[in-house]
Amino acid sequence: MAAFDRLVALWSDVADLERAAAVLEWDQLVHMPAGGVAARGEQLGTLRRLAHERLTCAELAQALAAAEASSDLDELQRAYLRVARRVHDREAKVPARLVEEMAKASTDGYVAWVQAREQADFASFAPVLRRLIHLSGSYADAVGHAGQRYDALLGVHEPGLRTDRIRQMFAELRTALVPLIAQIAERPPLSAALFHQPLDEAGQWRAGERAITAFGYDWRRGRQDRSVHPFSTSFGPGDCRITTRLQRDDFGVGFFATLHEAGHAMYEQGLPEAWRRGPLGQASSTGVHESQSRLWENAVGRSRPFWEHFLPIVRECLPGDWQGASPEAAYRAANVVRPGLIRVEADEVTYNLHVALRFELELGLLSGDLPLDHLPAAWNDGMAVALGVRPGTDRDGCLQDVHWSGGSFGYFPSYTLGNVLAAQWMSQADQALGSVQRIG
Ligand code: ZN
Repeated sequence: MAAFDRLVALWSDVADLERAAAVLEWDQLVHMPAGGVAARGEQLGTLRRLAHERLTCAELAQALAAAEASSDLDELQRAYLRVARRVHDREAKVPARLVEEMAKASTDGYVAWVQAREQADFASFAPVLRRLIHLSGSYADAVGHAGQRYDALLGVHEPGLRTDRIRQMFAELRTALVPLIAQIAERPPLSAALFHQPLDEAGQWRAGERAITAFGYDWRRGRQDRSVHPFSTSFGPGDCRITTRLQRDDFGVGFFATLHEAGHAMYEQGLPEAWRRGPLGQASSTGVHESQSRLWENAVGRSRPFWEHFLPIVRECLPGDWQGASPEAAYRAANVVRPGLIRVEADEVTYNLHVALRFELELGLLSGDLPLDHLPAAWNDGMAVALGVRPGTDRDGCLQDVHWSGGSFGYFPSYTLGNVLAAQWMSQADQALGSVQRIG
């Protein structure tokens, strides 16, 4: 027991350093002026290096081994040790210098990406992206893999999951989705006109707030801000923040982003407060994390009962704009299926094909089979094959997502895992609670 407590104390320092880095990252994405980039990269690099040094030091390794040798541990303590061992052994293989370099490159990458995306200029982003791919490859090689670098990166997000299994999942989904999209295309299109009218942004913001408050997002332990790319972050169950972006003529962009990020944040708010400074205070699977965001965004937020209940509330938030609208019109507007260019705005049917493309491209970039200069064309061709649409600029193509700019490779499959899991949760809820979809 004493050995376990010793480990918990040591690991708490690591967790505090990582959370402090997360606060700096949140600030960078929400408030930081462009001039802060160089210093912020250094600060994050230092914090990440210190966290890594603490995690991989001899003292912690000894405490971990001693705790594992204890015989009087309960189930949660044993779970703590399982996760601690996995994370420790993985990170112990990564040189501290590489950790620091990756943190710095992520900061540079984000700034370069924001500008490149704005100007639809892939060439200006390519050098920093090349460096990030190189560093991620080095990380994968350091962690170790059986010939497939992607396995190592995937394992950070989904412990134990292999690339081949992901490939198989996408193949199964493609087999079902491609004919379904074709069938839907033959039917008369639903109208999204209700969502596509100029709407007051403050009213859109209020509508999102009202919805997630009803879902159970706890504002005493969270807040919402605006950012280029919506995200959620947590500094412990007591402070789980979200961001959204609003578009005046597209209600769905901000509203569903808010529901999505609140799903993530509510998952974090539900983690055990007592374990917040250790491995049990963090999600082990990003797919499970995504299952919560996709559940609230889609299974709930795009359902008929939701709109029957929620339309009057949106009307209050947007006085004058939606007065003649029916719940059925809102439900239909929320469920238009149309192949489009942007993943975060994609409907449920086409969404996973966006993710499948990113997965294939990431694999190619990491293995070297896809030269970076060919990325924009490979993206555009891939979209044409998968969804029959072709981006006119890289802003709507390979520059649209933030992930690669932060050196995050191997994350994308989590979205689809989340969708698959969310469908399973909803089906289970339906059986256990008696047709939740029909509750008015
Ligand atoms: Zn998400």
